[in-house]
Amino acid sequence: MSESALSAADLTLYDPFDGMRFGPEACFLCGTPTTPPQDTVPVFADWLMDRYQLRERPIKLLDMRIVTYQELRIACCARCRTRHVGPLEAHVEAISRQGVRGFRELDEQTLFLWLGKMFYGILITELLNQQNPLAVPQYPLAENAQMLRRFQAFFQPLQALRVPMSYDDFVPASMFVLETDSAQDELPFEYDDDLSTLTFSIKLDETVLVACLVDNGIIGQAMRRVDADARRPLHPVQVAEFKARLYYAAYLLNVVPDYFPRALKPGDQEVIMDSLIDDVTGTIFNPWENSAYAQSLLEMWKRWQIPLERIVADPSRPLSYLYDAHDQPRYLSQYPEAG
Ligand SMILES: [Zn+2]
Repeated sequence: MSESALSAADLTLYDPFDGMRFGPEACFLCGTPTTPPQDTVPVFADWLMDRYQLRERPIKLLDMRIVTYQELRIACCARCRTRHVGPLEAHVEAISRQGVRGFRELDEQTLFLWLGKMFYGILITELLNQQNPLAVPQYPLAENAQMLRRFQAFFQPLQALRVPMSYDDFVPASMFVLETDSAQDELPFEYDDDLSTLTFSIKLDETVLVACLVDNGIIGQAMRRVDADARRPLHPVQVAEFKARLYYAAYLLNVVPDYFPRALKPGDQEVIMDSLIDDVTGTIFNPWENSAYAQSLLEMWKRWQIPLERIVADPSRPLSYLYDAHDQPRYLSQYPEAG
């Protein structure tokens, strides 16, 4: 597409929250009427489902209903499929073949959009599911005002998936690219999320992507040192600890960014998005509590069955596999450790 082919309509933002249009009848990116099932895109792209044999794999929703990965789909019109979602998936598929290096070199907006599209799909599935009167949600998302506010904020920069857009001086999310030690790791694919904080993680072979999608990089700043120290092949138990830190930090995050598209002038080729975080009226993070963080560790370490008593043996210093007693990065050649 040439620059001149851009019409004013291409720069029009879409607001699905006006009328809460999240169902199968409207394209998630532009609102064009859609006809399921052909006007849909998979939440987990075909290349992902093929590579990791996900189609028949079950995924448990919040209401305990089990669906398969291939059943998770988002309404998407033909134009958005071929012009926006398709090219994004093709691009990420190509760079994913370079593994961790490919993802680390990927520009932040593309990574945000790719992760954001998947997360959006999961969130919408859960939201629509909970509108089903027969569903018994574990916790009703639609009644969670804070979560809806976050979701609404997240959708603004996500529109860069369709509308040419640059973020002025911010990155919408905190995103981390971790690497597992392939000699100690047998899980090719893993996915988990916390919808209420817009936090999630996806593992593709030795690459683990972990993100909070609506913090304008605040958690990334707060975890700068942990991230720098974790730039080495990690044992999966260390990756799980990193995730526990991020998920807990996202839970403590007390602010939601506001986004403001600048008014368009004739001839503009893109939307410039400004963002503001109101940190005057409140603290950015609620206070860190080791006992609550230990619960996050317990959850993330479930696979290794590490008991809570061991995690909080020293209540002032929860168990860590990323750092040793002197706060230096720990190298774990095996787990459990010998001796
Ligand atoms: Zn569309």
